[in-house]
Amino acid sequence: MTQPHAADTANDAPSAPLSCFDLAERMSSVDEARRTLLTLVEAPLPSERVALQEARGRRLAEQLTAPIDVPQNTNAAMDGIALAWQTDRNHWVPAGQALAGEPFTARLAPGECVTIATGAPLPDGADTVIMREQLTTRGDQVIVNDPERVRAGQNVRQAGEDIARGSVALAAGERLDAARLGFIASLGIADVAVYRRPRVAVFSTGSEVTAPGETLPTAGIFDANRFTLTGLARENGAEVIDLGILPDAPASIRRALESAAAEADLVLTSGGVSMGQADYTREALAELGQLAFWRVAMRPGKPLACGWLGATRTPFVGLPGNPVAAMVAFLQFVVPLLARLEDQPLRPPERLFARAGEDLSGRTGRCDFIRGVSTSDRNGQLWVHSTGAQGSGILASMVDANCLIELPDTCAAVSPGDTVTIQPLRRDA
Ligand code: AMP
Ligand code: MG
Repeated sequence: MTQPHAADTANDAPSAPLSCFDLAERMSSVDEARRTLLTLVEAPLPSERVALQEARGRRLAEQLTAPIDVPQNTNAAMDGIALAWQTDRNHWVPAGQALAGEPFTARLAPGECVTIATGAPLPDGADTVIMREQLTTRGDQVIVNDPERVRAGQNVRQAGEDIARGSVALAAGERLDAARLGFIASLGIADVAVYRRPRVAVFSTGSEVTAPGETLPTAGIFDANRFTLTGLARENGAEVIDLGILPDAPASIRRALESAAAEADLVLTSGGVSMGQADYTREALAELGQLAFWRVAMRPGKPLACGWLGATRTPFVGLPGNPVAAMVAFLQFVVPLLARLEDQPLRPPERLFARAGEDLSGRTGRCDFIRGVSTSDRNGQLWVHSTGAQGSGILASMVDANCLIELPDTCAAVSPGDTVTIQPLRRDA
């Protein structure tokens, strides 16, 4: 196999952070841009307590410690009998029953057993559960059919085997998904401190950009970006303020931006950030705050603007207008920015290795994000293919893709069988 063309998966190296305004003019790498953009966030969002029912998708703002053992009692993992196992005994005398929620409270004497239901606490003195299917009743005695198959301690769940009282159940910063919500509930915790959802104001720019549902002018294009970007923002835990399409009228752009900056924790635009593009949005943004225009060595998504808006110094990111470029730039830059608002350290994007199923081409000196489809073969090897045409306006490529193939700036081309890095695309709504 030839040399791997994998992106560096090490944690982005810490270095004295540049301010976001120091990067302007020169071409920066994706990693550098990702790191520098975080300096826009001056303070994390406050936290609030919410009921567990309201907490799905929120990020935990406190460490949770188990107040109890889970399970609370050592209990049966099967329906059957509980007893203190002795290899030299085959007849057992039933002394009563233990049901879920109705424990058998006396201590078992040697040779005694209790009928027990799954989940019921093991009586004192018992250490083993034998399933019903392996028992025969004869008179007032119970006989174990194949005693040589019984292991002492079998079919018993130990108190605290899921989590022990006093140990850390979840670390601060974890995003609460279905498993975590259930886990918290199993501890008896009914409300949790979570970060306030970042409020993200999103608007599109460009006089050709037309809202779906309206008549498409001859030279028009329907506004796809507001839907991809608000979708991605929500998928990443944000609350969206949809500001529509900004008209080409300086006064109304200014007003819209001003109120967005006052209301939102992050303002996102798409379009109008290319070099040499003199449009009203850019002027209005510059008037309202401090702006930097970046060139990031990546494809798609090279032009990017960022800065602060208004007296609140609300972070602002101006994404490229091309629909794929806007999505790729969101995934590389806005996702970590949202995580920063929720007080998270910079983490590299989730990455996996796969082998290229075909020739892929990029260019040295820039990071290429190729939309890919990854599948595993019968040996468990992951393979990745490109979705086909890679124009930065071809949004169908994002629909088809389940990952981005990341060809780092040191890589110009990949041959079939070479190892490449992929970033899986999330598909949770
Ligand atoms: P710009 O960065 O404004 O030069 O836009 C680059 C390309 O993206 C142009 O073809 C625009 O028409 C297109 N574009 C800009 N905004 C949107 C949008 N909201 N939805 C779909 N395409 C857009
Ligand atoms: Mg434009």
